[in-house]
Amino acid sequence: MPIAASRTTPGESRRPLIVDIRRGSLEDGPGIRSVVFFKGCPLRCVFCHNPETQEICPEIAFTEERCMHCGSCAKACPQAALDLSSPTRIDRDRCDLCGACEDACPTSALRIVGKYWPVDTLVELLLRDESFYRHSGGGVTLSGGECTLFPEYVATLLQRLKALGIHIAIETSGWFDYEVFAEKILPSVDLIFFDLKLMDADESRRYLGQSNERILENLRRLLAEPRRASRLEVRPRVPLIPGITDTRINLSRIVNCLCHLGPSTMSVVPYNPLGLAAYRRLGKSTPDLPTSFTNPDREAELIDTVRRLIAEADRPLAQLDRELTSKSVNREARTSVPALVA
Ligand code: SF4
Ligand code: SF4
Repeated sequence: MPIAASRTTPGESRRPLIVDIRRGSLEDGPGIRSVVFFKGCPLRCVFCHNPETQEICPEIAFTEERCMHCGSCAKACPQAALDLSSPTRIDRDRCDLCGACEDACPTSALRIVGKYWPVDTLVELLLRDESFYRHSGGGVTLSGGECTLFPEYVATLLQRLKALGIHIAIETSGWFDYEVFAEKILPSVDLIFFDLKLMDADESRRYLGQSNERILENLRRLLAEPRRASRLEVRPRVPLIPGITDTRINLSRIVNCLCHLGPSTMSVVPYNPLGLAAYRRLGKSTPDLPTSFTNPDREAELIDTVRRLIAEADRPLAQLDRELTSKSVNREARTSVPALVA
């Protein structure tokens, strides 16, 4: 039976919106997982690989390669905001995000990004894969964007899933209100992927749009949390962005910080260019970033650098070296346009 999410008007933008729900993922935690991508992020990383999740309000996206120029969308648009002869296609000043063009488009070339899912509806969808979670040691991962922006909604969602014994992971930028997070979200979480990008405060402001003070403090507090029955795992994750986060000085400072804080694992994530097309789909200018994947030699060199930095740290943490993982994306799996699964 199909499950429907609802559109949100701009006036309702504080309701949590979901950009995509990816079922059957093997990349966002252990086992087979469903990944829920929330819309809205407090950071503005210049290298954001998922720009559809930055703004908290709905947006309209146009995927040119999917368009067969049938004209149905322009006929359906009450605002006359669509012009098939225009290279940008959408007059975003006129568009009120009503979604009539999305309904009319036979190929999903036009799509309203960000739909509201009542918790019951979302739980119902996520539970369709419950047997996969159980047999594979998988579960549900909340990603984004920043799911911690919606503590009440997330708390209700996670309590429902946790009551059924489902493993929960979250992916976070680390920029959240710790007290609220600890009260509402942390009790239901088994695994936290915590992004650690830049150690220099000025560079953080320049490349992430926020100082890193709160991020570092939150990581410190999380790693100092009693490990409730050894269940919670906090895994710092470092995206390797060429010339920005993958510099030796930044990696050295990250490794030294982690060796002092003592997580048992860490991951590095080699750069991939898959997010660049999303900027175009949203009508935004594309950031000045490499258009190709990190080649395997460079990836191996960076991992080797991190291993050497761990060995040379003030307090080398041998376990961190043993558990260091590199999370390259599956290129084939991530080249398709995200589609909301229902
Ligand atoms: S969302 Fe509505 S107003 Fe905007 S382009 Fe589509 S039909 Fe027109
Ligand atoms: S309805 Fe879809 S396929 Fe047809 S012209 Fe509009 S965007 Fe292209």
